[in-house]
Amino acid sequence: MKFLFLGMTIFFSITSLFSETLNEKKVAIMYSDQFLLHNTGKNHPERAERLSIVVNNLKNNNLLSPYLIWPTVREASKQEIKLVHTQDYIDLVEKEVNLLQKNSISYLSTGDTVISKKSNKVARTAVGAGLSGADAIMKGEVSSAFVLSRPPGHHASASKGMGFCIYNNIAIVARYLQKKYDIKRILIVDFDVHHGNGTQDIFYNDDSIFYFDIHQHPFYPQSGRPNETGSGKGKGFTLNIDLPRGAGDIELINAFTNKLKPAMDKFQPEFILVSAGFDSHQGDLLGQLNFTDVGYENVAIILNNIAKKYASDRELYILEGGYVAENISKSTEKIIGVLTKNMGD
Ligand SMILES: [Zn+2]
Repeated sequence: MKFLFLGMTIFFSITSLFSETLNEKKVAIMYSDQFLLHNTGKNHPERAERLSIVVNNLKNNNLLSPYLIWPTVREASKQEIKLVHTQDYIDLVEKEVNLLQKNSISYLSTGDTVISKKSNKVARTAVGAGLSGADAIMKGEVSSAFVLSRPPGHHASASKGMGFCIYNNIAIVARYLQKKYDIKRILIVDFDVHHGNGTQDIFYNDDSIFYFDIHQHPFYPQSGRPNETGSGKGKGFTLNIDLPRGAGDIELINAFTNKLKPAMDKFQPEFILVSAGFDSHQGDLLGQLNFTDVGYENVAIILNNIAKKYASDRELYILEGGYVAENISKSTEKIIGVLTKNMGD
């Protein structure tokens, strides 16, 4: 009898441990075929194929697939986009896109962002994908999500689209988390090869969002020098690391270990958002840094540890740049692997 009782106890604890572990391992992939409809023309590096290859590889990855869920993605409302962007800019995007003929493409008048007939709807869905991912995390369905969307967002400021970006996806998700879920402190990490000038600008005076950006310098858009640290009450809440052309995993991991980690022990974020740009990967078409899959994997482990310590495991990655699809694919899978295994100390 005693043995039976003991046996049952062990059985129950193993079962509950198992189901708990399974829950923790699920990652939401936020993707919609809509994202393929933002047409940037024949020779543009930011094109639909970069996403379709990544999604196909992920769906065929037998090791990861059991741990992935693919929630439905919704379109963001105008009110939600207004959490970050001005009414004038939202009207301008709508007007300029509406003026286009069916198959023609043009540039946004505010900067170097190609637009086509479906671009506004697609951009609003890209924002919505981030918001749906945030909802899935806050409702406890998953602890982390990876948004595979386009167009990217981190160069867009409140009133200006540029650098292939229309709406600043990650900034809108941050404001949405604060407004809807009363999240007090959010870390935004950006490891795209380009400085996320739009995101920095939006939160420059804000002490509730800590912005950490590691990027190549000198390089487009030229901002993001280490002396740009925020202003007013946001002073000290922006941390820029610029790296010379050719820098690689050692510099990347050093910056996360020696600069970001101690800053987060002070800031103690309740949610981590990541602008994941893989144009900082070795061999990219535009970037000239040499990060590898192993470097991104290490970054994901460091962020996972910070998330476990302060943010109840809540992490949401959003794709930014990256112009060699295979590089995005391999690196994304490494990061998702870390999130599914909940790796870290
Ligand atoms: Zn970039």
